[in-house]
Amino acid sequence: MAKEIKLDGVTKEFGSIVAVEDVSLTIPEGEFVTLVGPSGSGKTTLLRMIAGLESPTSGTISFGGKDLTTAPPQDRPLSMVFQNIALYPHMTCRENIGYGLKIHGVPVEERNERIEEAAQSLQIEDQLDKSPSELSGGQQQRVAIGRAFVEDPEVLLLDEPMSDLDAKLKETLRVEFQRLHHELDATFVYVTHDQNEAMTMSDKIAVMNEGRVAQFDSPESIFHDPVSRHVSTFIGTPSTNVLAVDVNDGVGRVESTTLPLPNSTSSEDQVLLGVRPQYLTVGGGDLEFDVTVDVIEPLGIDYVVHTTSLDGDNQVNVVTDSVDELAVGDVITIGAALENVHLFRSSGERIRRPKPDGVEAE
Ligand code: ATP
Repeated sequence: MAKEIKLDGVTKEFGSIVAVEDVSLTIPEGEFVTLVGPSGSGKTTLLRMIAGLESPTSGTISFGGKDLTTAPPQDRPLSMVFQNIALYPHMTCRENIGYGLKIHGVPVEERNERIEEAAQSLQIEDQLDKSPSELSGGQQQRVAIGRAFVEDPEVLLLDEPMSDLDAKLKETLRVEFQRLHHELDATFVYVTHDQNEAMTMSDKIAVMNEGRVAQFDSPESIFHDPVSRHVSTFIGTPSTNVLAVDVNDGVGRVESTTLPLPNSTSSEDQVLLGVRPQYLTVGGGDLEFDVTVDVIEPLGIDYVVHTTSLDGDNQVNVVTDSVDELAVGDVITIGAALENVHLFRSSGERIRRPKPDGVEAE
């Protein structure tokens, strides 16, 4: 049985550094939740507090309704997999995977059964009697995951478990983590700085910035309905294009396109526009502007067309599936539907535009 984890007003200070600030988050029972954000945004500190390896300066952490804020790790219903694989070099993989079970007094027969079941799920049955030094990095990481897996945890915490692995292995393990999540029926909390991992594996993503959770939502909502410039540009590749908007008499302009703004917007306000490369099309739209083509980058089926605005101020990327009519140096018109354009204040906060024109479905 999985467990819901509830964080309420959790703050962690290291001297004058506020690593995590006033985080309130409910991680639903059985879900795969990813903490993602740039380096130093507080992801690992938050995970370590959930694990019981750090104590919050203030706030509470409960598991399945039980307050365990100050409980040591061994009194919490969880297992952890870390970035640095810490296997015992003098033990075989079988002994490594079964070590936790052995110290908890699980009889040898049951132990072997559970080790073999885990090894089968992780496709390392053939490696069980080897020592860790005989395995590749990816196989060693699977053994480390196996060790967490055999304990049948209600909560599994994973701290950048794939950061040292190559791209191909990451792709394989991404699928395995999701399969394990279904098999274990556990609550997963996964830390990464890689937004691609977050987008592909999670039921919900907490995007962190400067110790705070900027947005906690499904991958789809984070992608299509970001609350801030930070969330919009951190999630998704290529990154969201950001352009300056001229504001005059409450109306925003980008070249010849006007954008309705809230009444409260004054000419002094700096307004930015964000549009994902996937929503820009060659040939125009509600929002239109001209750019020069700099580079055409093939991705397989799609292409990323790197362009620069005619005033030279903005780099704008467009994802398209056809570049037959395009060449480097061409001046082209690109555009997007207004419903796919977001506006932000210079502070980064999203500006919700007025209905009915348009634009922003809230
Ligand atoms: P990364 O992706 O680089 O691991 P992160 O998002 O996991 O970063 P944390 O490791 O949680 O971020 O760090 C958040 C902030 O807290 C950083 O400014 C870091 O320097 C600081 N910090 C973390 N642990 C300690 C500590 N033990 N003592 C002092 N400061 C710390």
